[in-house]
Order: sequence, then C-alpha cells, then structure tokens
Amino acid sequence: MKAHTRETQSTMTPAKSLEYLKEGNQRFQNNLKANRNLLEQVNDTSEGQFPFATILSCIDSRVSAELVFDQGLGDIFSVRIAGNFVNEDILGSMEFACKLAGTKLIVVLGHTSCGAIKGACDHAEMGNLTKLIEKINPAVNAVAEPKDESLRNSKNLEFVDKVSKKNVELTIARIHAESPILSEMEKKGEIKIVGAMYDINTGAVAFY
Ligand SMILES: [Zn+2]
Repeated sequence: MKAHTRETQSTMTPAKSLEYLKEGNQRFQNNLKANRNLLEQVNDTSEGQFPFATILSCIDSRVSAELVFDQGLGDIFSVRIAGNFVNEDILGSMEFACKLAGTKLIVVLGHTSCGAIKGACDHAEMGNLTKLIEKINPAVNAVAEPKDESLRNSKNLEFVDKVSKKNVELTIARIHAESPILSEMEKKGEIKIVGAMYDINTGAVAFY
C-alpha cells in the first residue's frame, strides 16, 4: 500500500474515508496488515502529506490510532490526550487538519476501561491530572443511571463505559459548538465528524 498523494487525497470523500478506517480495523481484528513499506513511505511523504482522516483518541497505550486502523505514514492526523476531549489547541489542530491539510473525516475515538474516565468517575485528584480529569466531569454528570452513588465509580465498568461513550458525544457537540470552521465544513459536506468506541477486549471499533 502506497502513501496518500495529492491525487489520492482529492478522490477521498467523508464516506470513503470512513470506509477506509472500517476496513483497516477489520484487518487489525483479523491480524492482517496491509502490505506497506514504511521506509518507502518516509521517502514518498518527504515532500508533503495528504492524510484523509483526523483521529482524536486517548493516550492509552492500547489505543494507537495508526495500529488499530492499520494505517501507515501520511495517512491520518493523530491527536491524543488522556480522555480524548477537546480544548482550544486541539480544535485548532483539527481546523488545521481539515481546512488546510485536507482531511475529510474527524473521528472522536473513546475506548472501554479508560483510565482517565475511571479517574473522573472516582473524582481523583493528583497534581496536574486533577484539572484534566475535571474536564471529563460533564460526561460523568450527564450519565443519569445508576442513581445510587455507591455504583457511580470505576469499579462499575458498565458505568465507566457509558461515561466514555457520553464523553465522545459531548466532545462532538463541543466541536460543533466551538469550531464554526469545522461546523461549516460539515454542513457543506466537505467533512464528517463521527464518534466511535474501541473495545480493548476485542480490538473492534464500533462507530456510532
Ligand atoms: Zn483512556
């Protein structure tokens, strides 16, 4: 598989980009890899990059976007932060990726058993992590069930995963609300913004 070029990027659409990622994750789940020579891709991309998708995912060592979607050099912009939320700088990165560098799809990728989400569920406090975790609180508060406080913590994995999913939804809502550039591009059909969850038990990505 070759690195993307200006020509191949120009033939990509939001729907085709999503298909590429779904196919890549299928290969990953089946332990197949597209045949690519990374060193050759270094060479092929030295003059420029023409990626087709931007993926916001967690720093979790098990959720590398390039690996779980079986992508090579120059294929995707990968934004990673514990808890995969957005702030001004990340929105700026996404605007660069879509408006200036031509990617057609933004994926907000949460994952099961996320440590940052667990920390938020437990209202953990530690150094600079306290502030980071506070940013996930809206997702914790937005999940209504269970009501019993004793079940609203990281020991309840079902709750944790519900919060992860809600966090993805709220992150997409924030992208729409806080980036007129990306909202406008989506309205015009130039890009699509989708949510997904990666299952650390199976390697499967479920888009929703
Ligand atoms: Zn995580």
